[in-house]
Amino acid sequence: MIRPKTEEEIELLRENAIIVSKTLAEVGKAVAPGVTTKELNRVAETFIRDNGAIPSFLGFEGFPAAICASVNDVVVHGFPSDYVLKEGDIVTADIGTLYKGYNGDSAYTFPVGEVDARTRKLLDVTKASLYKGIEAAVAGARTGDIGYAVQSYVESFGFSVVRELEGHGIGREMHENPGVPNYGRPGRGTHLVDGMTICIEPMVNAGGKAVYLDRNGWAVHTADKSKSAHFELTVVVRKGRAEQLSTFDFIEKDGRINF
Ligand code: MG
Ligand code: MG
Repeated sequence: MIRPKTEEEIELLRENAIIVSKTLAEVGKAVAPGVTTKELNRVAETFIRDNGAIPSFLGFEGFPAAICASVNDVVVHGFPSDYVLKEGDIVTADIGTLYKGYNGDSAYTFPVGEVDARTRKLLDVTKASLYKGIEAAVAGARTGDIGYAVQSYVESFGFSVVRELEGHGIGREMHENPGVPNYGRPGRGTHLVDGMTICIEPMVNAGGKAVYLDRNGWAVHTADKSKSAHFELTVVVRKGRAEQLSTFDFIEKDGRINF
């Protein structure tokens, strides 16, 4: 039995979600050709600490950095490095915070300069599939309804959903039950209850769904070297419509940048 969060807990999760959302926007402002992914990590870690939070990924099961920076064919869990971003790349920043005992966790895939039309489509479809998932995340539905909504949308564009990784509950722990797969069948999986807090995070490949684990034990790559996108938001399951805790508005409605 998964305990729904109290409204007090939800407010603490909201504070984390806002810090993470703003951190993603700071990273987005720094994304440009010529910038290293290590620099994106520095920007994020500085912003998180300046806001009194802790970068929860740093040291998590031995992860070496404050953010995951996953470029092109890397689906998730890329290490920030000396790799220099170039025009046409995409880079996913996945960011976690720990603040007042609760967690934040969200991700956004940024284009580096101008990207080709198919890559732009991959980003648009992946983000739209996340919102399809959120629409399905209502009290009385089940996790399979979320997965089905994401998968059916993504596959209608000829892209594929990664199966090996999934969304999750969030609270005092970054990863709580239930698991929230990005594929599935309606009416299957864990029942969604009012007050449950979950991260929905489709990982979508431009090519096939197969992935492999890097020798470093962390980075997940597409098997066919196609590009992969990943968008993640934290929501509260409610009756009728889920409530978003994190947001991409700081990235997309800032006025200075527009992805
Ligand atoms: Mg994440
Ligand atoms: Mg997550």
